[in-house]
Amino acid sequence: MLPIQHIYPLLYQPKQVVITMHQKPDADAMGSTLGLSHFLKQFGHTVTVISPTNWAVFLNWMPGCSEVLDFEAPNDKASNAINAADWIFCLDFNTLSRAKRMEEKLSKATGQRILIDHHREPQSEMFAYGISDTSKSSTCEMVYDLIIESGNEAKINREIAECLYAGTMTDTGSFRFPSTTASVHTMVASLKEKGFDHSQVHENLFDNFLENRFRFIGNVLLNRMEIFYEYNTALIVIPQPDLVKYDMRTGDTEGLVNFPLSIKGIKLAAIIIDRGEERKSSFRSKGGFDVNTFARKYFNGGGHFNAAGGANREPLEEVVAKFKLAMKENVAELSSYQF
Ligand code: 5GP
Ligand code: MN
Repeated sequence: MLPIQHIYPLLYQPKQVVITMHQKPDADAMGSTLGLSHFLKQFGHTVTVISPTNWAVFLNWMPGCSEVLDFEAPNDKASNAINAADWIFCLDFNTLSRAKRMEEKLSKATGQRILIDHHREPQSEMFAYGISDTSKSSTCEMVYDLIIESGNEAKINREIAECLYAGTMTDTGSFRFPSTTASVHTMVASLKEKGFDHSQVHENLFDNFLENRFRFIGNVLLNRMEIFYEYNTALIVIPQPDLVKYDMRTGDTEGLVNFPLSIKGIKLAAIIIDRGEERKSSFRSKGGFDVNTFARKYFNGGGHFNAAGGANREPLEEVVAKFKLAMKENVAELSSYQF
C-alpha cells in the first residue's frame, strides 16, 4: 500500500470513482464517503457511493444520501459501478470482509483500491494506496486531512462540512472520547465557518427515533442486562424475538452498548444481538482493557482499543457462553481496576 499522498497529483485527471464503506454504515462511514464524494465531484470525477447493505433512516438527511446505492438492492447498478471503477475508495473499514456480500466483488475488482481508515490491523496488501491511522478520531477527520493536505481547502463547502462534522461528532461520542484532539476542535471550528447548523445535525441524528425503540430499550435495561461486578463487566443479550416484537430497524440498537458503561465501576460493556443469520456483538471499554484484541480473539472481529465488534455463526447461547468464558479468562485484567 503506497502512501495516500501518491494520489494527490492524480486527483486532477477525471476518473470513474466508487466510494464504499462498511456494512450497516454509521454516521462516520456515511459522512466520510459522502464528504469525499462532494469533494471529488469538483474535479470532474464520476463518483458513485455504495453501501454494502441498507442503513439507518437517521442518516438519510445527509446531503447526497438519496443517491447512495445499496449493494443488496435487487439491481446491478452497484456491481456495474464497481466493474467500471478506476478507483475504489474504502472508507471506515480495513478488511474486505466488513463489506459482507460485497467482499468478493471488491476483492476481484480491476480498479485500484484506496484505503482511508482509523481501525487497527489493516489488510494493507489489498490496497494500492491508502492511509491507516488509529490515532484519528474518525474517518471524517481523515477525509478533512486529505482535502487540506492536497491543497484543496477552498473546495470545502457547506455540504462537505455538514457530512464531516456529523461523522466526527458521533465517532468521538460528541467530542468526549480521548481521540478528540485539539486538531479535531480546530477542524470543527473551520467546518463551522462554512455555515451549517450543528444543532440541526445533532437533532437529525439523535431525535429521529420512534416510540417503539424506547419501549425496547426499557425492556432491554429491565430484562436483558446482566452485571458482573467482580469482573467490572456488563452484558446485554438480545434474542431475535425481541427485535421482531418491538419492530427494530437498522440503527435502532446502535449505542445501546454504551448504556451500562455509565454504571459506576463498569469497565467492559458488551452486547450480543441475535440477528438471525449471525450473532453480532459490540464491545466498549474504559481505560486499559483492549476490546480490539478481545473481539479478534473470541468473536472474529476487531475495531479500536476501546470500541470493537464481532460476528459469530454459533447459536446465541453458545456465543453468550463464549463471552462468559472469555470474561473469566481475562479476570486478572478486568478485576484489577481501582475505584
Ligand atoms: P459497533 O460496535 O459500533 O458496531 O462497532 C465498533 C467498532 O468496531 C467500529 O469501529 C467497527 O468498525 C468495529 N467493528 C464492529 N463489528 C466488527 C466486526 O464484525 N469486525 C471488525 N473487524 N470490526 C468490527
Ligand atoms: Mn469510524
